Amino acid sequence: MIILGYESSCDETGVALVCTERGLLSHALHSQVKMHQEYGGVVPELASRDHIQRVLPLTAETLAAAGMQLADVDAVAYTAGPGLAGALLVGASVAQSIAWSLGRPAIPVHHLEGHLLSPLLANPTPAFPFVALLVSGGHTQLMRVDGVGRYALLGETLDDAAGEAFDKSAKLMGLGYPGGPALSKLAEQGDPTVYDLPRPMLHSGDLDFSFSGLKTAVLTRMKSFDVNGGAAFETAKANLAAATEAAIVDVLAAKSLKAMKQTGLKRLVVAGGVGANRHLRQHLETEMARRGGEVFFPPLSLCTDNGAMIAFAAAQRVNAGLVDLSTSSHAFTVRPRWGLHDI
Ligand code: ADP
Ligand code: MG
Repeated sequence: MIILGYESSCDETGVALVCTERGLLSHALHSQVKMHQEYGGVVPELASRDHIQRVLPLTAETLAAAGMQLADVDAVAYTAGPGLAGALLVGASVAQSIAWSLGRPAIPVHHLEGHLLSPLLANPTPAFPFVALLVSGGHTQLMRVDGVGRYALLGETLDDAAGEAFDKSAKLMGLGYPGGPALSKLAEQGDPTVYDLPRPMLHSGDLDFSFSGLKTAVLTRMKSFDVNGGAAFETAKANLAAATEAAIVDVLAAKSLKAMKQTGLKRLVVAGGVGANRHLRQHLETEMARRGGEVFFPPLSLCTDNGAMIAFAAAQRVNAGLVDLSTSSHAFTVRPRWGLHDI
């Protein structure tokens, strides 16, 4: 069975073709990062309009890359939430329209289920069960993944996501968007021990996170610097960047290791853009090896938002018998806020 899938929940337009037997056939992606850069963050209305312009050309590209035509498609999947309402509506309405015109079923997909199953697209593939640390600009969650459709939330952020903490701290330091890579680069030149930043909820006893206090600490430090200090100011900023990165990485790693201990599982998968962070990778690799476990970092192209994970999640659900393909209704809605417990 051939599934055409769409992702448009935030600032990436992704389209993919997945075969339920053979896996990923082709995919195409457009990132809006450059467009949002001049505003310092994602502008929802611009995101929606850009998705509209990209979605059909990317569809043609994806079909051509697989040597297929729309008539070859057996079902159309799309991200139904969570995400930006207007952006989600673009993918949802295009997917439902194509499904309707072909007389095929449409499959709404939960964005986070896409992320959780995306490591299975990588090589090597982690076997179930595993713990997933999902760390992106929009999410910070620890999940236990026992199989397709079998997910348990272990902990999550109570306020900002880890990527958001990187982005907001970077903005306070006058670095570009997205802030994570920029802050991480500046941190290379800094000393993380000069400023002692808080490690929010490190000893909270649970697996939840909180990052909103960190940006206040960064702001307070920034205000204490002399902006006309020349080289001293640059050094102070680099030290602050290093301290910020260390604080975020420490908390993410400590809670992930706690989740491994609590579940007794040996495999950890890190998904989401923050998974690109070099310090986080090194820290988790060392600590998981010490515990006789394994950590998987799927390629970044699969970790950040993409259409492949959405079409793939739909295929996995079909294979697991979790999708009713008989429905012919193409009425739809999107769910900007949608918990994974509710799929
Ligand atoms: P979303 O679509 O929810 O914003 P993505 O999975 O696309 O999330 O990841 C983007 C996030 O990852 C941004 O917040 C960005 O700052 C962060 N990020 C990317 N690279 C790094 C890095 N090397 N270190 C820290 N954060 C990073
Ligand atoms: Mg993104």
